[in-house]
Amino acid sequence: MRRYVRELNVKLGSSARGVSLRKFGSAGSVGIYNEIGNIPVRNFAWGRWDDDEVFKITGETMAKTILERPYPCTTCPVACKRFVRVKPGKWFDKEFRGLGPEYETISLFGTNLLISDLEAIARMNEECDRLGLDTISTGNVIGFIFEAAEKGGLISKEIEGGLRLEWGGNADTVIKLIRKIAYREGIGDLLAEGVRRVSEKIGGQDFAVHVKGGLEMPAHDGRAFFAHALSFVTINRGGADHLGWPHMPWRGGIAVPELGINARDDRYNESEEVVDIVIKMQNLMTVYDSLVMCKYAFTAGLTVTDIINLLKYTTGKDYTVDKLMEIGDRIWKIERWINNQLGGITSKDDKLPKRMLTPHANRNDTKVPYVVEKWLPIYYRKRGLTEDGVVKELDV
Ligand code: SF4
Repeated sequence: MRRYVRELNVKLGSSARGVSLRKFGSAGSVGIYNEIGNIPVRNFAWGRWDDDEVFKITGETMAKTILERPYPCTTCPVACKRFVRVKPGKWFDKEFRGLGPEYETISLFGTNLLISDLEAIARMNEECDRLGLDTISTGNVIGFIFEAAEKGGLISKEIEGGLRLEWGGNADTVIKLIRKIAYREGIGDLLAEGVRRVSEKIGGQDFAVHVKGGLEMPAHDGRAFFAHALSFVTINRGGADHLGWPHMPWRGGIAVPELGINARDDRYNESEEVVDIVIKMQNLMTVYDSLVMCKYAFTAGLTVTDIINLLKYTTGKDYTVDKLMEIGDRIWKIERWINNQLGGITSKDDKLPKRMLTPHANRNDTKVPYVVEKWLPIYYRKRGLTEDGVVKELDV
């Protein structure tokens, strides 16, 4: 076991993706995701922001500016997390040394709100961390209220304390909103309810971006990868959960030979084969969750065979690829059953928000994942659900 883990540490830490994550963190994806339309811009209405602005908040720029060193979770050879140092100035009274923003935070507070000040985003990240707020949900709800103010009639642009709700405005407004949300002060009391409930109260459901259960959208877009869209509507943890399945077979060409998955470059493939791939990858990620393993281990090169070997050395038991898939599928079904029984979740809830079914307003080289509607009945059949998306029987 010890020898195997030592060898794995070398393999994962020296792989091209492992090295890239160590150098640039998860934010190393900001530039490429802007290029392909996977990053949120203006509450997901746009599919791209100005390259020069985006460049200011990439992982590469962070490495040249505020990054002090890569920071690992215990014993991790990849060290994707960022330990940053920001000098005293506009955003920090004293020198700040601590964890810096990751891809999702930079996207939801940066491109999503049209803010390209990395130090300001580091402060927003720190505020959210200290106050116990999720940066994805917080960036989403602020993006939603900015759009509501822009559209007019739902909420005025000028609110309490002279704050102006507008894209790319003073980043200080966002920091103040974060604090208001945490303490439920003024407009923060409304925003603390999340995008779905805010839209139910003030209107704007057409541009309320969330998937079943009201969980806000991560910084990934079904209009960049159709397979994303299918996984977003079928994953069990709240809604558009980007950790429920890795998009790497498409995004970066990672093959999973043990599951018969080849590296891909056909992100708009509409064939039934995509349904199989999504199910297999969801099952694999469920196994990752159960083993409490980081999804970046997959990115950095941990194979299914490695997992089977680690399980053997840890438990003495022989697992197979089929067994892991069976376990992943069973856990997925238990989760779905709980959602069916306690949440009343059925096929009626497996829907993309309207915004995800609308073309990006400022580019025409991305596509709308209408295909999800065609895929869902196939997905239910392959998962052994009824046509309404309900688990028929549990095999536990
Ligand atoms: S365990 Fe995962 S999240 Fe933690 S530093 Fe390593 S790669 Fe990053």
